[in-house]
Amino acid sequence: MDFNFKSRGCSNCYFCRMNDFIPHFSELDAKDELAHFQQRFCIPQVQGQDESNQKILYYCGNSLGLQPKETRNYVEQELVDWANLGVEGHLQALRPWVKYHEFLTEDMASIVGAKPEEVVVMNTLSVNLHLMMVSFYRPTPSRRKILIEYSAFPSDRYAVESQIRFHGYDPESDLIILQPENEDEYVNPAYIQQVIEQHGESIALVLIGSVNYYTGQAYPIQKITEWGHAHGCVVGFDLAHGAGNLMLNLHEDGPDFAVWCSYKYLNSGPGSLAGCFVHERHAKAYDLPRFAGWWGHNKERRFKMEAKLDLLPGAEGWQLSNPPILPMACIRASLDLFKEAGMPALRSKSLKLHKYLRDLMNSLDHSDIRLLTPESEEEHGCQVSIQIKNANKEIYHQLSAMHIVADWREPDVIRVAPVPLYNSFEDVHQLYSAFKKVLKIQ
Ligand SMILES: *Cc1c(COP(=O)(O)O)cnc(C)c1O
Repeated sequence: MDFNFKSRGCSNCYFCRMNDFIPHFSELDAKDELAHFQQRFCIPQVQGQDESNQKILYYCGNSLGLQPKETRNYVEQELVDWANLGVEGHLQALRPWVKYHEFLTEDMASIVGAKPEEVVVMNTLSVNLHLMMVSFYRPTPSRRKILIEYSAFPSDRYAVESQIRFHGYDPESDLIILQPENEDEYVNPAYIQQVIEQHGESIALVLIGSVNYYTGQAYPIQKITEWGHAHGCVVGFDLAHGAGNLMLNLHEDGPDFAVWCSYKYLNSGPGSLAGCFVHERHAKAYDLPRFAGWWGHNKERRFKMEAKLDLLPGAEGWQLSNPPILPMACIRASLDLFKEAGMPALRSKSLKLHKYLRDLMNSLDHSDIRLLTPESEEEHGCQVSIQIKNANKEIYHQLSAMHIVADWREPDVIRVAPVPLYNSFEDVHQLYSAFKKVLKIQ
């Protein structure tokens, strides 16, 4: 074993001495071309007893992304335009409000790998999920089931169950839940295929969340779409944990629809507006049942207040209301950062951060620690779900006391998401050191 750890500038890190194969965080941070983006974010601080401020270690980007410093200016611009222009701002604001959502479309589409006509920013996530199901969950007596993954996000579960009931059916028999085959949390794609093959002819809609919010498992979008379509199912995805996290390719992968929020990895502020994708093949499906509103009407004629609805083609045709400008300004600010950094570079750093955290946690070699998130690169995003067997929430409270913001899920899982835009390798190392401390590992 090589004990030559000092050459790396680390004199007290036990880890450097014992695990030469894991690079030191300072080495990794020095090589990180995205490192400077951290300064573009507001990193929460705690006030110390001596009035000094200490940075909070933030690993909750999977739940609420941090605020880009520029966001304030984008919002301010709209407040100024409103103050100075009143109603004229609809046409005369720097970014005219009547088409503000269009300023988001192209960059949002590029984040999810879609054509601009396939994407619109509107409403919030659960609302978009319902709007999509109004059009794309069309059950018949012989094909009326919905397939979802186990431990789906509760809102998705409530939404699909209420849709099944809305059509006069019973979730008890018409909701199929993809359970892991074994004792663990991993859902094998081969098993997903098997379930779709077995029940496909009775499934109206396959609706999968990728990445799963609890385990961090990313499901194969292209394959699930192919399997579902082969059996005549409609296939949709909830990408709340995927957008701004994974490299997505929605147009090529071909699902019928997808929805996602913008306040997690997309850093657009609490409760901000959501994205919606409708595949090109449905762009002119004007006869699909849908709930309509005036923002889905022909743009040129919208203010003529005509009685007869003339639907817009593409995803925009699902819009209802004139949208709130302030949260859209937050989204515009965030999309500019994503454009500057580029999804491929972000994903590449994310994979390194993730692996670094995994390697460090595995090196603890602690029998109570289990990583629920699959290891292979195609099967995870930023998040690592760490199970601490026999633990109670006390561990989480201890981490919080060390200014670590993570997320506890009963009974014994801590979810952390090192995010490439504002987390460093040093952050990850500090998280690992904190775990070592609370687990009393030397
Ligand atoms: C975060 C999240 C939601 C939250 O829905 P809202 O409508 O934005 O409150 C729903 N589904 C999934 C999968 C999520 O991760």
